[in-house]
Amino acid sequence: MRNIYNETLGSLEETIHKSGYKAYSAKQIFDWIYKKNVRDFGKMTNIAKPLRVFLAENFRFGNLTVFTKQVSKDQTRKYLFALEDNHLIETVLMAHDYGNSLCITTQVGCNIGCSFCASGLRKKIRNLTVAEMVMQFIGVQEDTNQRISHVVIMGTGEPFDNYQNVIDFIDIVNSPYGIEIGARHITVSTSGIIPKIEAFSREPKQVNLAISLHAANDTLRSKLMKINDVYPVKELIKSVQNYIDKTHRRVTFEYILLRDVNDAIADADELSDLLRGINCYVNLIRYNAVKEFSYQPSDEKQAFAFYQRLLKRGIQATLRKEMGSDIDAACGQLRAKTTQ
Ligand code: SAH
Ligand code: SF4
Repeated sequence: MRNIYNETLGSLEETIHKSGYKAYSAKQIFDWIYKKNVRDFGKMTNIAKPLRVFLAENFRFGNLTVFTKQVSKDQTRKYLFALEDNHLIETVLMAHDYGNSLCITTQVGCNIGCSFCASGLRKKIRNLTVAEMVMQFIGVQEDTNQRISHVVIMGTGEPFDNYQNVIDFIDIVNSPYGIEIGARHITVSTSGIIPKIEAFSREPKQVNLAISLHAANDTLRSKLMKINDVYPVKELIKSVQNYIDKTHRRVTFEYILLRDVNDAIADADELSDLLRGINCYVNLIRYNAVKEFSYQPSDEKQAFAFYQRLLKRGIQATLRKEMGSDIDAACGQLRAKTTQ
């Protein structure tokens, strides 16, 4: 039986139509599922009885089990969910002044293996299904009973290595009949898979794109991210420029600040030269320590100097406040562990 949370509005309409029912019922079904939070087809009273029976015979409501839950000093919540096949994944809810933002995991493990990231310590076991991403959202929303206003696809995994499922997930999150979060409140972050950046530029939705850059030249970037050997800096920047030309959207570059590795003023200068003229801004993140690696975060003064240097050289930037590091819920600390 299919998990109903795998269905986009379009795929549900198609299934229903093919089985001889009215396609528009899909909107009503979505309304019951995502607006009224009903988990029983029998209770969908405005749906014709035979269709309700058809749904109950063909679809089920999946469920994630909350394995553990931690709340940090800054109210960041980290959920360790057990999937139906018992793999564990993490989802993080951050309380910002502009609303609650949910960080979604897309894979069990990650094959990109960046040299600084805890998530990459575990090789990819499998992609998450659309339903497993949707259920992260529903699971956290039900647990907190709070409105989630933003979704960032930045948990464990490389979203563009699970492309179609991530696109379908975005479809459900964004659908006015579904979760209904505006495209501008949805961000997907990639380590820079060029063919998928091209594909993404052809998607109709105005979702934010973030690129994990972390270095402005190939020598350093390849050391940090071996994916750079496949998709080097200049080609990556070119594909981002093509994306901007097509979509007219501003792109975010993520840059983690690693002490004495990529945080010198000369690095800021090289970065600003690389990004000059591109419609973008740089999201600076002080590295969150991971015990298996020797990298250290830049000290605060250096991070601020780097930030100011970018501004001075005409590059828009933010120095991101780190959240949840006391419970290992910050960027790059997710590893789905059950013990400390
Ligand atoms: N795989 C995707 C999305 C998940 S990682 C990607 O790499 O973009 C989300 C962000 O956290 C990326 O920019 C990643 O480089 C960054 N990150 C990884 N480990 C980190 C760490 N220890 N401290 C701070 N940021 C980290
Ligand atoms: Fe994977 Fe992103 Fe971590 Fe790299 S930074 S290992 S791509 S999750």
